[in-house]
Amino acid sequence: MDLLKEKILCEGRVIGTEVLKVDSFLNHRIDPQFMQAIGKEFARRFAGCGVTKIVTIESSGIAPAVFAGLFLDVPVVCAKKTESRNLDADTYQAPVLSFTRGKESIVRINKRFIDSSDHILFIDDFLAHGQALQGLISIVKEAGATVVGAGIVIEKGFQAGGKAIRDLGVRVDSLAIIKSMSEKDGTIIFEEEV
Ligand code: 5GP
Repeated sequence: MDLLKEKILCEGRVIGTEVLKVDSFLNHRIDPQFMQAIGKEFARRFAGCGVTKIVTIESSGIAPAVFAGLFLDVPVVCAKKTESRNLDADTYQAPVLSFTRGKESIVRINKRFIDSSDHILFIDDFLAHGQALQGLISIVKEAGATVVGAGIVIEKGFQAGGKAIRDLGVRVDSLAIIKSMSEKDGTIIFEEEV
């Protein structure tokens, strides 16, 4: 997606060897017009796949997931990373090692919000080592629902998550795949679109 790649090149900042900071349009300040275009693109790619629900994980997956849900006309379920009195006790749970925080948390989805008739599309902002997606996949499988695929805004192709998830037989559609990036000279190279 050219618009996304332009944004990454103009506004993205490489931190060390592993992290891309895109807080000006995706993770901290959110550009709604741009997010709408992202949602439309996910909807175009997964139209006709029978998606009944989108599942994302708080918090940065919510914006692209909601716009995708708007255009696919399906509800969006957001997995919670923290326990709260707002959350019913009856939840599906999975441990997820957070890439950005470096610590494990239990992600939870209320059992009322997914069932075995569902066809689930995952949406997330980044795919790095695939921990978040693996946790969500295990929850959806426990619920007996069907996994349609995953729509990722930015995949870091030099990290292992994309291969690990595709090796599970899950379709992963990423709007931009970064082949390499360097903090030293600020370069970001994308993989060719297939
Ligand atoms: P994974 O679970 O695939 O290792 O990491 C994905 C999660 O970590 C995403 O939900 C995203 O929030 C966060 N993440 C991974 N890599 C990056 C990155 O380079 N930049 C930012 N801002 N978040 C990232």
